[in-house]
Amino acid sequence: MTAMRPCQLCETEMEPHLIQGSTRRLWTCQNCGMFHAEKEEAAATLSFQPREEGRSDSETILSRMKATLSQETTQLRMLHVNCHLGQMLCTAEKRGWKALGVDPRRKAVDLCRSRGLSVFHATAERLPFESSSFHVVYADQVIDRAENAGRALKEWKRVLRTGGLLYLSAINWESKSASDVSCKDWTAEQRFGFTTKNLGRLAERSGFEFAAPNILGEKRWAGLLDSVVSSFGGGNRRANKNSRGESILELVMRKPLSGSGEANHSQRNSARAA
Ligand SMILES: [Zn+2]
Repeated sequence: MTAMRPCQLCETEMEPHLIQGSTRRLWTCQNCGMFHAEKEEAAATLSFQPREEGRSDSETILSRMKATLSQETTQLRMLHVNCHLGQMLCTAEKRGWKALGVDPRRKAVDLCRSRGLSVFHATAERLPFESSSFHVVYADQVIDRAENAGRALKEWKRVLRTGGLLYLSAINWESKSASDVSCKDWTAEQRFGFTTKNLGRLAERSGFEFAAPNILGEKRWAGLLDSVVSSFGGGNRRANKNSRGESILELVMRKPLSGSGEANHSQRNSARAA
């Protein structure tokens, strides 16, 4: 018998399926459409293929983030979670940011350090930084590989300064052709599957709010008002598709200026302790 488990987003009991060609189970939420795959026993660590895969619009995104954070008077600090070879860090440093990275793969850390970058060996859910350390957290396709997506979001929120920005992306599981969940093409690293509707909701549940929709560009944000998320693909954004040709959900969230419900809750707790 397999124990039921509640959905991380909406707490509905999820249904287990076997992933085709694997002994891993995949849990699906009929309510919000979130998928959660069991960890593969053999795949304790993320694979690492050192290849240059810089994105074509990283400078645009950085300059728009800078403009959004224009009231900041100190040097802007960015954290790249799972920074791979550190291309984004190089781009940010060239543009005057203080850019730091973490990666759970020792090889990636060593390669980045050999390039002179400030990169630390750490996982997305436990960052070796003080609270409110960064103006931007950049997490490109990290949330769907996290052990616990909700915990990762809370950790990213912790290290962000008030008003700081979170860039978040994930594979769009609605773009996969197979309608049967058991046929979806799950890699050993993949833990969560998100759709246009539920990624933003999970981030909001973790205490983020949507940033002004001017960072990814109008085209990509065209659907913002209806679905709060945009996916890209086609024409001028082709370079940003990943190597498997999947479309990617992208969001820019913000740590709210006023305390969220959660912050109020912890304030109450510390008040009680004091
Ligand atoms: Zn759900």
